Amino acid sequence: MARGAYSPQSQIRVRVWTWDQNEPIDQPFFQRRIASSVQMRQSLRDDPSTNAYREIHAESDRIPGLILDRYGPYRVVQFLSQGVQAHRDAILEVISTGDDIAGVYERSDTDSRRLEGLTRSVGTLFGDEPPDRLPILENDRKFMVDIRGGHKTGFYLDQRRNRQRLTHWIRGDVLDAFCYTGAFTVVAMSAGARSIVSVDSSAAALEMTAEHINLNGLQPEQAEQIEADVFSYLRTCRDSRQEFDTIILDPPKFAATTAHVDKAARGYKDINLLAFKILRPGGCLITFSCSGGITSALFEKIISDAALDAGVESLVVATLDQAEDHPVSLFFPEGRYLKGLICKLNG
Ligand code: SAH
Repeated sequence: MARGAYSPQSQIRVRVWTWDQNEPIDQPFFQRRIASSVQMRQSLRDDPSTNAYREIHAESDRIPGLILDRYGPYRVVQFLSQGVQAHRDAILEVISTGDDIAGVYERSDTDSRRLEGLTRSVGTLFGDEPPDRLPILENDRKFMVDIRGGHKTGFYLDQRRNRQRLTHWIRGDVLDAFCYTGAFTVVAMSAGARSIVSVDSSAAALEMTAEHINLNGLQPEQAEQIEADVFSYLRTCRDSRQEFDTIILDPPKFAATTAHVDKAARGYKDINLLAFKILRPGGCLITFSCSGGITSALFEKIISDAALDAGVESLVVATLDQAEDHPVSLFFPEGRYLKGLICKLNG
């Protein structure tokens, strides 16, 4: 039927490379596939306002298990399946080529790699070691990325388009919950937030948030960073009647696999219910889930249940998804993992 990579330890036994039984899986194969993915991102490459984006999105780009992200002159690669691991050298040769590549860094340190029976592997594979903090540009906003130690490959590139889309809905006092290094905080402040509270459990991420506020010439006195568990922070706000006009909820993946969907659904419902309770009339809740196991339909149901239990009436004014450099193959719907809703309360 096809040619694929067999993975004896994984639940996913075979990942298909090609439906053409005669197509060899060799260096020219990877050359073609990678060139085609990179070519598809030409408009992003030409866009002077952004220099960080995903170049290869694994299954959706027909290279199962391969992630390649671009941060200015650096490439960050993740080999996440036995198949791409076996063809590492051929792939590395292709992705290290190009005058504009200063270095290629590996971040194969995800949990999914363990499920494939592979061990963690990180480090410089080609060229220069990336700096501790690499400056990047996203939609003309400046951020510093820690390629070596940051989440994922350093930055949540999948939210780029949503960051633009939500500017229209920002107003008044804003809460950016699960803020990481403050990308939404910077966007909300430039969109005219009166005040902003950014909450995360990571002190290092909050320090970067403060740095990003300064880097983008925004007013630090309007902004507060709080190191806290978002669940407890929201409860404290509810109990002390602290309210917001706009709330952004961008939690980490609550469901690692479909086996965790029920528990994850409760987590999403809890935070969204609390958020609805502390939202002022006419306010907006901008809420996300990046769990692949939670479908868009289920997510909307969870948010609807949360609104019902919070006793609020709300409209969905926009549905959000992952940026276009994180495409979804029609043959791999599981690739659609990020979903979001902008819900406006009746005023
Ligand atoms: N909105 C961010 C990405 C958020 S990623 C962006 O656009 O860049 C999720 C973040 O949630 C991480 O920074 C992680 O440190 C934080 N986090 C995870 N669990 C948390 C919890 N229970 N309370 C507070 N922060 C948490």
